Amino acid sequence: MEQKKDLAIVLKTIRYQDRHQIITALTQKNGKISALAKNSVASRRFGGSLNVFCLSEWLFTEKASGDFFYLNEANLVQDFSLVSKTYEKYVSGCFLIELLLKFIPEKLNAYEIFLLHSEALAFLNKLSDSMLERQKFIFLSIYLMRLLKWHGSAPVFQDCFSCKKKLEVLQESSFIYYDIFKTRWCCTSCFQSHEIWLSLRVDVVKELLTSLTIQQSIDLTETTPKKHADEYRTMFMFLYKFLAHTLPHTTTHGEEMFKSLRFLDVKSFAL
Ligand SMILES: [Zn+2]
Repeated sequence: MEQKKDLAIVLKTIRYQDRHQIITALTQKNGKISALAKNSVASRRFGGSLNVFCLSEWLFTEKASGDFFYLNEANLVQDFSLVSKTYEKYVSGCFLIELLLKFIPEKLNAYEIFLLHSEALAFLNKLSDSMLERQKFIFLSIYLMRLLKWHGSAPVFQDCFSCKKKLEVLQESSFIYYDIFKTRWCCTSCFQSHEIWLSLRVDVVKELLTSLTIQQSIDLTETTPKKHADEYRTMFMFLYKFLAHTLPHTTTHGEEMFKSLRFLDVKSFAL
């Protein structure tokens, strides 16, 4: 079998027998793959490159049956070691990993998501804890929105389904009401209060849509306003629900599916 070379970011490691590990990673060209790293436990052979969050250059061969790979060599490029150092960063990083493990099919080319994830880890790695505390849900919302866009299932915000008013003409401080099951929204004038829809602030929706048009916008250190931190928590939960809704075997609320969600300070969120 021909040896392949690719950049890979580690998502998960599982011990296999005494001395081996199975590493699941998101690669630049080969999508999400799992590879057996023989004799990698308590060995210097891979030099710390197999830890979760690490970005490395992998040399690997595909098993004849095509169902997994053998990892022959891994050379560390960037370890993003600060992501594991504090609680806030670690929890956010783990949530991203859980998203990718559940959302990205094996071996499907996901070049944009590889870029998104490496940018996101670089951002988490350099940001201070206090900045992350303030910007956590903006950061996670942009990540989720990009993932949904890649998947072709991002929420559409064109116009009110009832009066056809466009999002652009609505007041910045007003709200729209979204129904994720029918993937449509209505404006305040058309909203009837007996309907249990999710409210989103217009300027937050616009900011999120703008952020998607900017290259490398996952770096929020200079570009994002700080005033809507709480509104972005709502936006995050909206996008999370939206994503959970697109996955098979989703529970009513989706919380059970993502173990890391309970550490993200989102509390219970009824829809
Ligand atoms: Zn309307």
